[in-house]
Amino acid sequence: MCAEPERPATISQNDKHDAQDQNGSGCDGKRGARRDAGKLHEERVSDLHGEEAAARTPRVAVSHSGGMNQLRHGVNALQVGEVELLLTVTSGGTAVHLAHVANPEDAGRAAVHEYYFDANRRSAPLELSYDRAALLAARWAPMTLCGREWAVMIAGEGGPLSELNDEVAFAPTCGRCLSIMDKLFPAPAPDQRLPLIAKLGADSILEHGHAEVRDVPGDQQQTLRTAVRTLVRQRAGENCRSYVQESVIFFVSEAIYAEHAEDNMRAAAEAIDRALTGGDLTPVHEPAWRLSWDTWNIS
Ligand SMILES: [Zn+2]
Repeated sequence: MCAEPERPATISQNDKHDAQDQNGSGCDGKRGARRDAGKLHEERVSDLHGEEAAARTPRVAVSHSGGMNQLRHGVNALQVGEVELLLTVTSGGTAVHLAHVANPEDAGRAAVHEYYFDANRRSAPLELSYDRAALLAARWAPMTLCGREWAVMIAGEGGPLSELNDEVAFAPTCGRCLSIMDKLFPAPAPDQRLPLIAKLGADSILEHGHAEVRDVPGDQQQTLRTAVRTLVRQRAGENCRSYVQESVIFFVSEAIYAEHAEDNMRAAAEAIDRALTGGDLTPVHEPAWRLSWDTWNIS
């Protein structure tokens, strides 16, 4: 009789299919029975460095927790907010693309073809490294974000999908897919005081040619810069540039400023000097073109 003394403690009870393989060539029940889980684990790790063992041993068969059940990996996907994106490759292509989840009314594709789990390919690491149900779930759109038909999920943390291809990837390399993914990041919710401050900033630019807004939170800066520029363009038909130094945003419309050059020269020179030298930004006085985000807290 040969029970499962050689069976490493790190292999889960679900791996019945591979018990025979793991027992390998010998059946040394007495020797194996005396081993504790820690010893088995050490040998398991050591074995992984041997080529022969590597061929029959999945990379993740040894969990890093040492003795706990192995962890099977799901699909190789990125989570962007609420959106899940599968890392894929196209047939014959080298770039790593992204595919989103199929619309509910459309038929989805599995991350890998069932062929990858074919019993004849049992020696491949896929079966033990990856969650079969997760990889075969037909839930992905057939096209990449950039509009290509993808072939298969690229391997990820679970290791190669087959012994013939050791390529793994953890991020897309297709520029088009990347730029589309960037747009999926949710924009920060605009603060309710933002429209008012944008209007006051634009008022100041129209009157003086420039404005300065202090204490602007980082996640509101880009929205405020865009809002002020848009207002100045709408109301005066002029362009407006903005510069950021930490929490302070400087706005300058050169065309409008030129109309008020003489009046504004001294104040603007002071502001620019402070911005460029990183000097003390504490105002000596509060000119009309200087605004503070905190002053207008209406929340
Ligand atoms: Zn792409």
